[in-house]
Amino acid sequence: MDGDEQFRHEVRDWLAANVTDGLRGIGGPGRENEAYPQRLAFTRRLAAAGWTCLAWPVAYGGRGASLARQVIFHEEYARSGAPSRVDHIGTTMVGPTLIALGTERQRRRFLPRIAAVDELWCQGYSEPGAGSDLAGVTTRARRDGDHWVISGQKVWTSLAHVADWCFVLARTEAVPDGAPRHAGLSYLLVPMHQRGVTVRPIRQLTGDSEFNEVFFDDARTEDHLVVGEPGQGWRVAMATLGFERGAATVGQQIGFQRDLDDLAALARRTGALTDPVLRERIARAWVELSVLRAHTLRALAGPPTAGTASEIKLLWSRWRRGLGELAMVVLGPAGAAADPGDEEVQRWRRLFLFSRADTIYGGSDEIQRTVVAERVLGLPRQDRG
Ligand SMILES: Cc1cc2nc3c(=O)[nH]c(=O)nc-3n(C[C@H](O)[C@H](O)[C@H](O)COP(=O)(O)OP(=O)(O)OC[C@H]3O[C@@H](n4cnc5c(N)ncnc54)[C@H](O)[C@@H]3O)c2cc1C
Repeated sequence: MDGDEQFRHEVRDWLAANVTDGLRGIGGPGRENEAYPQRLAFTRRLAAAGWTCLAWPVAYGGRGASLARQVIFHEEYARSGAPSRVDHIGTTMVGPTLIALGTERQRRRFLPRIAAVDELWCQGYSEPGAGSDLAGVTTRARRDGDHWVISGQKVWTSLAHVADWCFVLARTEAVPDGAPRHAGLSYLLVPMHQRGVTVRPIRQLTGDSEFNEVFFDDARTEDHLVVGEPGQGWRVAMATLGFERGAATVGQQIGFQRDLDDLAALARRTGALTDPVLRERIARAWVELSVLRAHTLRALAGPPTAGTASEIKLLWSRWRRGLGELAMVVLGPAGAAADPGDEEVQRWRRLFLFSRADTIYGGSDEIQRTVVAERVLGLPRQDRG
């Protein structure tokens, strides 16, 4: 048995011993508040066993694992039906950003607590007037002695209601004459538990409130908690987005496969498969998922190329939205009438409703297509006003 196979066995054994029946399948897209205390406790156990920050260097509490081992871990994790983790914003977004671009003081202060899941994070980028057009953020931060003072509003802030810290993109300097609009922004690490921070939940289509509005009214953070140089936060903000998915995408796709298998089984049970068009749509979904998986593995293995992340985002967001629509076809009127006590119907309704968000967050489909058009095909740049 080679080292990677041995590693796979180690992961599998740990999961078999720790993923007990009550934990299997809890949480996930559109179900971020489901069994939260149990999922937090499980994620902390995972952390204590050294599984949360595989990709991080050993010096910062990770395992320095190869990409192959990260993929193995995410495959096994998804296959085991382990709960949806609560640490991803810390471990896959701000942690790698601090490792790459933070100061040693910031790394020492934050990384051990992220790795142990002692402190949870949220992402403060989007605002009511700045989503796709992120350079338009109007939240401001000004220096006051040895602090930054922050005022403004963020929106769609996932998990802000459970977060201890937020990484905030804020304007700290006016745009210099002739400079691009993203000049003068800074990337600040801001504690959530203070008087100047108010979190208001937003009720979503699914009925859940996974994201929030966050108001900063003279909120404060210490002056050394800016990542990168003040005014140079755009580069840091883009680096964070680059870290967002990585090897975890493979685990996500194993979840997709399970959803598709379960939907095909449901269609068999309901007799919906007598419809030849539906049979064809299910088969097509299977083929598209195989293409997506092959493309993702190839992209992970190779050197980064322009537009690849956009291609993968477009492929998976459209795939899952299509799966939600297919589920509604399989269920027929039962999907619309939705008996609240019918857990199976509720599962597919949740997937259908939440998957509407897949083509919006992490860069909308339109934005991803623009990236492909401009950076891969070399088409003329869009006029952005
Ligand atoms: C479930 C979910 C979780 C989220 N979590 C977070 C989070 O934790 N933190 C955070 O900061 N943000 C978060 N977001 C916000 C997300 O990043 C934004 O919704 C996204 O960037 C789009 O911005 P917007 O909603 O302001 O829409 P807009 O940018 O106003 O876009 C509206 C529509 O116009 C289209 N459009 C905009 N500009 C162009 C263009 N130049 N060319 C063509 N079409 C265009 C868009 O594609 C879209 O269809 C989350 C969103 C969702 C749905």
